[in-house]
Amino acid sequence: MVEHYRNFIAGEWQDSAQNIEVINPADESVVATMACAGKAEIDQAVAAARRCVKSGVLTKPRPVERMQMLLRIAHELRALVDVGAPLLLAENGKKLSEAETEFHNAIRYFEYYAGMADKIEGKSIPLGEDYVDFTYYEPLGVSAQIVPWNYPVDLCARSLAPALAAGNAVVVKSPELTPLAMTLLATACERAEVPKGAVSIVCGHGHEAGAHLAAHHDIDQIVFTGSVATGRSILHAAAERAVPCVMELGGKSAALVFPDANLDVLMESVDWGIFSNAGQICSAMSRLLVHQDIYAEVIERATALAKLQVLGAGTETTTTLTPVASAKQQSTVLNLCEQGISAGAQLQVGGRAADSKGYFVEPTIVSDVAPDNPLFTQEVFGPVLAITPFSNEEEAWQLANATDYGLVAGVFTQDLNIAMRASRELKAGQVFVNEWFAGGIETPFGGIKLSGFGREKGQEALYSYVNTKNVAIRIR
Ligand code: NAD
Repeated sequence: MVEHYRNFIAGEWQDSAQNIEVINPADESVVATMACAGKAEIDQAVAAARRCVKSGVLTKPRPVERMQMLLRIAHELRALVDVGAPLLLAENGKKLSEAETEFHNAIRYFEYYAGMADKIEGKSIPLGEDYVDFTYYEPLGVSAQIVPWNYPVDLCARSLAPALAAGNAVVVKSPELTPLAMTLLATACERAEVPKGAVSIVCGHGHEAGAHLAAHHDIDQIVFTGSVATGRSILHAAAERAVPCVMELGGKSAALVFPDANLDVLMESVDWGIFSNAGQICSAMSRLLVHQDIYAEVIERATALAKLQVLGAGTETTTTLTPVASAKQQSTVLNLCEQGISAGAQLQVGGRAADSKGYFVEPTIVSDVAPDNPLFTQEVFGPVLAITPFSNEEEAWQLANATDYGLVAGVFTQDLNIAMRASRELKAGQVFVNEWFAGGIETPFGGIKLSGFGREKGQEALYSYVNTKNVAIRIR
């Protein structure tokens, strides 16, 4: 008998007419079944969120109460890490240490935004002696949030925590592939006595439950994290009612390596930039642009690093590279590799499925990847690094910016002048210098171009979850 998980809707755990089988990507076994909600359950969750907003239960008390509520959620979630991390490992395939880190990041989001809940302060605007003018921030109301499968717990908390801190009620649509560990966020909310309807976490198919939520007449915001194609269709739905959106979409991010770079430092970043979570990271280091003077050496070192990876299940302590999350993802990655190689990229290592059960992709390094090659332009979302040479700064900036994406970028150099010029020239929401994924929960994150708009993380993200209201008073 496999375990069965239910949705948390309007403060109750609910079954649905249909179930989804959640598959372990390391051995293709069934981890558990998950209730698969349809339109009716989404309607129910949105109606409960609306009742919660109307009741004022989150907004009438002093904000310190929301701060305390978020801290209680963090506390309850911490008590669930030992159960949650293995569950996340089983459904997503990631390593246990990565799954634990993901839970700890989620906890940090609740703590971080707890600290902001009672500091959402407006401004007083001087208009001369006949007026008093001030602004305050109001919550948007019902925030609809749609989450992808690569970091379900982390990404859910990333949007849920600031939304609650600002006083919104939230309906989350969890991903079909990895909905199980996210149910523990609902458990934490339930144990923290979050008011009924303030948080619903509902799994359902994207084209049905997801599309219905995005087009719902009674939501006040959409926060979407996922692919460009889905983001586009959600934006069309949002346009009908001018619903404000935060769009956290894909990436094709480049690291630029100059001749004076410390290559040991670079290789550490390559290791976690493209091989952690099997490369299924929106901000993965998926392109390496290398100065021609050190091009051959970097290819050699990156290839050696790839050969050192140990493919295996996340349960094995020796594993350094876990499977991708699904059979579909595996074939997407392998097809893109094939296309890239037939378009002229040089395969250094990998490019194949591993010879075993499970959705493993060998660590892959391709060099001489031209700017029109699909491995240069398209998001792969797998352990595949594309390497391209450049000869001067101008060419480096031009190549880095030559895709439709603009999520993050990085530069490796000892020269502060180059680093500063790079930070200005690179068209991305975040620029890393000498460490890929530098920054954290405190630093604003989000893209430009097809990588989306709006910011998550940091203090700035909180203001994605409020409207500014201005009050202008004439004194007579
Ligand atoms: P996806 O777009 O296929 O799915 C994301 C979510 O949208 C899932 O919950 C899915 O059920 C739902 N969905 C699917 N079709 C829908 C529809 N028509 N209407 C409403 N909802 C729908 O993306 P994915 O494959 O789960 O995730 C991978 C993508 O997410 C990559 O492109 C990655 O770069 C991106 N991503 C971005 C960030 C970021 O912060 N920028 C973070 C993680 C992942």
